[in-house]
Amino acid sequence: MPMKKTVLITGGSRGLGLAMARAFAAQGCRVAITGRDGARLAEAVQDLPGGIAIEADVADAAHTQAVIGEVEADIGPVEVLINNAGIGGDPAGPRSFMDMSVEAWWRVQETNLRGPMLYCHAVLPGMIERGGGVIINIGSYIAIRPMPTASAYAASKAALARFTDCLALDLEDTDVQAFCISPGLVLTDMTRDLPFIKDLPDSDFFQPEDIAERVCRLASGEFAALTGLFLHVGDDLDDLRAQRDRIREERLYSLRLDGFEGLIP
Ligand code: NAP
Repeated sequence: MPMKKTVLITGGSRGLGLAMARAFAAQGCRVAITGRDGARLAEAVQDLPGGIAIEADVADAAHTQAVIGEVEADIGPVEVLINNAGIGGDPAGPRSFMDMSVEAWWRVQETNLRGPMLYCHAVLPGMIERGGGVIINIGSYIAIRPMPTASAYAASKAALARFTDCLALDLEDTDVQAFCISPGLVLTDMTRDLPFIKDLPDSDFFQPEDIAERVCRLASGEFAALTGLFLHVGDDLDDLRAQRDRIREERLYSLRLDGFEGLIP
C-alpha cells in the first residue's frame, strides 16, 4: 500500500541509504537525502521522483536545523527520519586502537553517534507536536560482537543502540517510535575492501534491498509494539510483534549483560 510520507535519509547518496531512498520513493514517499559529496547527491536524486538532495555533514550542528527547515519548505515536515550516514573507522582502512589518531577515532563518534543525536533533537519537537513520527537508527551487529580494529565503530554503534532504547522510553507518552536496526553485512563502499570480506561465503551477505524493505515496514507506523528494540535485518517483524510480551518480560532484543546466573539486573 502506498505510504506517501516525508522521509529524510542522512547519507542517502550511495550504499544502503540510496537503496532505502529508492524504496521509499517507489512507495510514493517524498524523500530527502543528504551527504557531503554534492556531485554524488545530484546523481542519486535523479532516481527519486519529487525528491531533494541536501549537501550537509551530519556532524555539523550549525547546519542541522537548516537541513530540517529545507526539507520542510520543499517537501513537508519530516515524518520519518532514517539516521543512516556513517563511517567505518579510519579513512585509511582498519586500524587497531593504538594505530588510530585520537581525531580519527573521535570523528567516528561524531558521525555515527553525534549525527543521529543532532538529527533526532532537531526533528522531535515537530514530530511530537504533530502527533507522530518514526525514527530509525541504522546500527550494526558489531555493537554486540567485539572484533579487532573496530573499537571506534563498535563503540559508536553500541552507544547508538542504547541511545535508541532510552530515547524510546523518553517518548513513551508520545506517538513517536524509535528503532535501531542492523542491516547485516552488505557489500558497499564501506565494506567491499575489508580484508576478511573475500573469505566469506555468499550466505553471509544481505542485499541493500533487504534493509530497504525492513526499514519501509518499520516506517509504516505499524510496529509501535517494537519501539526501542535493537533489531536485525533478518528478523521477522510480524513474529516479533506477536511475541511482544515475552520480549518485554525477558528484555530481549536489547543490549544486555549476562552472567553465570543469567541476566544481570
Ligand atoms: P557507504 O556506502 O559508505 O555510504 C555511506 C553514506 O553516508 C554515503 O551516502 C556518504 O556520503 C554518507 N556519509 C558519510 N559520512 C557522512 C557525514 N559526515 N555526513 C553526511 N553523510 C555522510 O556505507 P553503507 O554501507 O551504505 O552504510 C550505511 C549505514 O549502514 C552506516 O551507518 C553503516 O554503519 C551501516 N552498516 C553498514 C553495513 C554494511 O555491511 N554495509 C553493516 C552494518 C551497518 P558522503 O561520503 O558523500 O558524505
